[in-house]
Amino acid sequence: MIRARAHISSLAAYALADLSVTGGAEPVSLAQNESADRPSPNAISAASRAARRGELYPDPDWQDLRRAIAEVHGVEAQSILCGAGSMELIGALIRAYAGPGDEVLSTSLAYAFFRTATALSDAAYVAAAEEEMTVSVDAVLAAVSPRTRVVCVANPGNPTGTRVPRAELVRLREGLPPDVLLVIDEAYGEFADHLDEPVFDLCQRGDTVVLRTFSKAYSLAGMRVGWGVFPAAIAREVRKILNPNNVSAASQAAAAAAMRDQAHMRETVSVTVARRDGFARHLARIGVEAGPSATNFLLLRFSDAAEAKSADDALRGGGILMRGMGGYGLPECLRATIGSAEAMETAGSLLTDWTRKERSR
Ligand SMILES: *Cc1c(COP(=O)(O)O)cnc(C)c1O
Repeated sequence: MIRARAHISSLAAYALADLSVTGGAEPVSLAQNESADRPSPNAISAASRAARRGELYPDPDWQDLRRAIAEVHGVEAQSILCGAGSMELIGALIRAYAGPGDEVLSTSLAYAFFRTATALSDAAYVAAAEEEMTVSVDAVLAAVSPRTRVVCVANPGNPTGTRVPRAELVRLREGLPPDVLLVIDEAYGEFADHLDEPVFDLCQRGDTVVLRTFSKAYSLAGMRVGWGVFPAAIAREVRKILNPNNVSAASQAAAAAAMRDQAHMRETVSVTVARRDGFARHLARIGVEAGPSATNFLLLRFSDAAEAKSADDALRGGGILMRGMGGYGLPECLRATIGSAEAMETAGSLLTDWTRKERSR
């Protein structure tokens, strides 16, 4: 018998979205927080131009992409690392800084991949309680132990959609021991940039990394490009773990062009936010609770798991796939990505019908 190492074989397969439907309707996925909008046309043509030289390996240093990011965000190009999605960067960071006997600390409703990446490093995962589905800096600080090596915070959070202000992240950093790495995952940062000052400056301290992605606001989830601002010493270590040609030439070209088309990204964000807020108002009218969100999704909250399951069945019957939250310990919730206007219309009317039936029972 060929056996994988124990910390790998004991791991469950990563829980991807259930994309099955029951009715005959053409399924629409609102399950993976993908953008409802198409990528920038410039990104599409840049990718196809790059594909013409597909016989060559990509630039291992992502130079043009880093230049584009540096220009837009006012950070040093040398401080940026790019990954095949920000997931690759999260995995590499945890692998570089935590192993057996170490703890990775996050929060109870944090992005599930933090836990997976910790298990892959054979380190222990510790989750500080959130308060009202929001990161509590006090609870995180109280959970720090001598074994804590890395603290991961997604801000805004997924699946919660909530965020803490910059001042709270600064307070967290200042309260952490200087030998604990803080990873701030801003996968939805572009949806919250208008609310606060950026936190990239925290990376200059030497103990903090800020991650972003092209998968959400830039509509490039399929191209797999993430990036982050790293202190030099941390970048040096993480770089050793990344595959030397981790981001394909087409993906680098698409991401650089998308970054240079800020107008397209802003438009995606503003259309998504308007549609999200409209959907939230509809939910309030029909008596379905949804939390505040600074992202491209809403967390719907039903009275219990059975009710959430019944709503999910009704939505699936009409071809709308939301994400069940049982894996997060929130079986009474469904996470709804904000999709096209048509998809949100359909989701809204399926839920209206469902509430009528549910209440007449
Ligand atoms: C979507 C998401 C990511 C990962 O995205 P990539 O596609 O790997 O860049 C990371 N963190 C959070 C919180 C996310 O929701």
